[in-house]
Amino acid sequence: MTTAAKPLLSVRNLVTRFGRGRGAVTAVDDVSFDVGVGETVAVVGESGSGKSVTALSILRLIPSPPGRIESGEILFEGRDLTKLSEREIMEIRGDRIAMIFQEPMSSLNPVLTVGLQVAEPINVHRRKPWDVALGAAKQLLGRVRMSDTESRVRAYPHQFSGGMRQRAMIAMALACEPRLIIADEPTTALDVTVQAQILDLLKDLAQGSRCSLILITHDLGVVARYADRVVVMYAGRVVEQAPARELYANPRHPYTRGLMASVPRLDGDTSKRLVPIDGQPPNLARLPTGCAFAPRCRQATDLCHRERPALAEIGPQHQTACWLETPAHV
Ligand code: ADP
Ligand code: MG
Repeated sequence: MTTAAKPLLSVRNLVTRFGRGRGAVTAVDDVSFDVGVGETVAVVGESGSGKSVTALSILRLIPSPPGRIESGEILFEGRDLTKLSEREIMEIRGDRIAMIFQEPMSSLNPVLTVGLQVAEPINVHRRKPWDVALGAAKQLLGRVRMSDTESRVRAYPHQFSGGMRQRAMIAMALACEPRLIIADEPTTALDVTVQAQILDLLKDLAQGSRCSLILITHDLGVVARYADRVVVMYAGRVVEQAPARELYANPRHPYTRGLMASVPRLDGDTSKRLVPIDGQPPNLARLPTGCAFAPRCRQATDLCHRERPALAEIGPQHQTACWLETPAHV
């Protein structure tokens, strides 16, 4: 899939911070990426790298205080989402842009039937009467391949398994035929076989309606099959970005290589041992002066510890922020 001439979503130099003064944390630090029409972009990084805050910023769901979008642009269908009123963004949320969260149990209301919850966005955004919306909900449950939708619409979330709940979340997300779905670790809580089923389903349904997808995950192994492009985040910044195929064939940032070495290989080559990345993700409130990854990087030089590398083009559609890869260093 190639990026369309004009992207559906263009995140430009986004900065999102929490707190003020000494304890302030820049959770998303000058992040830029595009999502083309019908494209699946994976955002990958360890826990705490700013993936969810990026997603929540796009939907303007950052809890404020303590958080705020400090600068940057989020261009979607010709509008800058950072500039919209609360009312305008509410019309986009769940309608043009839908979100699927990691833990469906906390996003589903335990006292409402699944059918009502899937029908709600249709009632709210499409202003359809409840009986029509419920009929559509039943169809949507069929689209996410639930059997016996007649009784499923009347069931409550606790009567569903984890995988079924996530299917219901996907049905909700699809309800208003969004142009973009943001799925934040949608399968992390599920076991491996169910994970694959849910991701296959999500990808199929998105592709079928030319809906773009941002797939957030800490697992680089997951994205290979699903993503067209990959954005690798570390400590709130983009450290590498490339078409998925290129990234897997030619990972350039030592952090990306580390992530890759720590996931099972897709080709099933088990002869290579899995090597977790040494050390811990950094404390965002006390980032080093130079490259944030330098303290964990075996190849780090003095320059890496001293100065922060900028994201630079190192090949067609391939960017990385690493002194080892930029001409200034060679
Ligand atoms: P992940 O990549 O695991 O999704 P997040 O985007 O959730 O990481 O969080 C990145 C960092 O942003 C956290 O480590 C934390 O420092 C900060 N952060 C996120 N949410 C909040 C919040 N509600 N209040 C304060 N800080 C937050
Ligand atoms: Mg997260």
